[in-house]
Amino acid sequence: MTRLPDHRHLRSALRARARSPTMDRMELREEVRRFAEQRVRPHVKCMEQRRTVEVGLAEEIAARGWIGVTIPRAYGGMGLGHVAKTVIIEELARVSGAMGAMAQASQLGVAKVLHFGTSEQKRRWLPRFAAGELLPTIAVTEPGSGGHVLGMASTAARDADGSYVLNGTKCFVGNSHIGHVHGVVARTGPGSRGLTAFLVEQDRAGCEPGSAGTQAGLHGFSYGELIFDGCRVPASNRIGDEGQGLDVAYSSSTLYGRPNLTAVALGIHQAIYEDTIAFTRERHLYGQPIAKLPTIALKLGEMHSRLMTARLLAYDAVQKLDGGVSCDAELMNAKLVNTESALTSARAALEILAGHGTQQERSIERYLRDVIHTFPAAGTSDVQRLRLAQVALGEYAGAWSERVPRSDLVLAEAA
Ligand SMILES: Cc1cc2nc3c(=O)[nH]c(=O)nc-3n(C[C@H](O)[C@H](O)[C@H](O)COP(=O)(O)OP(=O)(O)OC[C@H]3O[C@@H](n4cnc5c(N)ncnc54)[C@H](O)[C@@H]3O)c2cc1C
Repeated sequence: MTRLPDHRHLRSALRARARSPTMDRMELREEVRRFAEQRVRPHVKCMEQRRTVEVGLAEEIAARGWIGVTIPRAYGGMGLGHVAKTVIIEELARVSGAMGAMAQASQLGVAKVLHFGTSEQKRRWLPRFAAGELLPTIAVTEPGSGGHVLGMASTAARDADGSYVLNGTKCFVGNSHIGHVHGVVARTGPGSRGLTAFLVEQDRAGCEPGSAGTQAGLHGFSYGELIFDGCRVPASNRIGDEGQGLDVAYSSSTLYGRPNLTAVALGIHQAIYEDTIAFTRERHLYGQPIAKLPTIALKLGEMHSRLMTARLLAYDAVQKLDGGVSCDAELMNAKLVNTESALTSARAALEILAGHGTQQERSIERYLRDVIHTFPAAGTSDVQRLRLAQVALGEYAGAWSERVPRSDLVLAEAA
């Protein structure tokens, strides 16, 4: 199996520090911000120009133990939960939406093993995810099904020896071209209990990355195709029971995908806000900074209000998730509001910067291109609204935050 290059010394020192009980969220935010400014920002221009997948930075981020932020310490992770995960993603996305997206995609890939894996699978995989040796993904979406998960066409046929043979194409898979272990959901039978999840190592025969796509933004991040052509996986790679694939897909999307994309949108929103404020101070018209013009001040006030609301909803939802409080609706609403308000602020920023906003040096056009990617992932805004309507009408059947144990409660099994 392909491994990330050896960062063992760096990794052990950083993980020891990350696990320190004295490290609080403020320290974590400072550490991630420092890293993002010093190590990520210098690569942003290059990522935009080359539009190639940025493997080196992904390795550095993984080496810091941040992919394992929700993995319990008993399995080598940071054991810090969803609030800390949001801090990490937000701070990376503030500097590079692509690296925020990269981190969230593999943190999302952790969920299926953490919540549905056997004790043996947890012991085998989680320490390696936490150490940054291997990047996991989750591959559910297909060209023909999209948000209609049950419409998927990929199959996993059980063979006489108990192994499964996978065939089909997944698309829009976060970290598709750099991930090492793919969490693939495929059809093993008819109906809603006919989906099953598997771990497929990237170098397994019959598993190949396909097109990397022609994305508008998040350059440096891959979310392309994975093609399975007679790919045989042993039964020991099955995650959860046969027929539990829909639970794996929905719970990962609700409890990890939504807050993760919320955090990416929040980080980009923060960057839009900071850059716009700076511009309105720097740009002078009529002998004064344009911040003094009433139309500009109004837009800044609205932007500030949107950002504050978006931030409150983002952190309230994950605080509830960490606290074991039922919060599916809060997670949906946080995703909806963060995506929509970041898009609105990007447009407002473009109006404020006017011609300058169209220039690459100012980054606003990058933020706009990047933030549109948070819109479809983990459910479009309309899908969030539809689910929220189901909650309002008492018809929502998910309640994943009640049904899936908190990540720290997974600890008991590690002993
Ligand atoms: C940056 C990024 C990262 C991603 N990462 C992953 C990943 O790691 N793994 C993975 O498996 N997938 C991933 N995806 C895919 C993502 O989950 C899908 O884009 C999403 O599920 C929507 O599918 P779709 O884009 O095919 O749109 P469709 O599902 O085809 O939607 C088309 C339209 O139909 C509407 N619609 C859909 N369902 C309903 C409904 N029930 N009622 C009314 N209207 C509806 C939608 O709102 C939309 O307007 C990622 C996508 C992006 C952009």
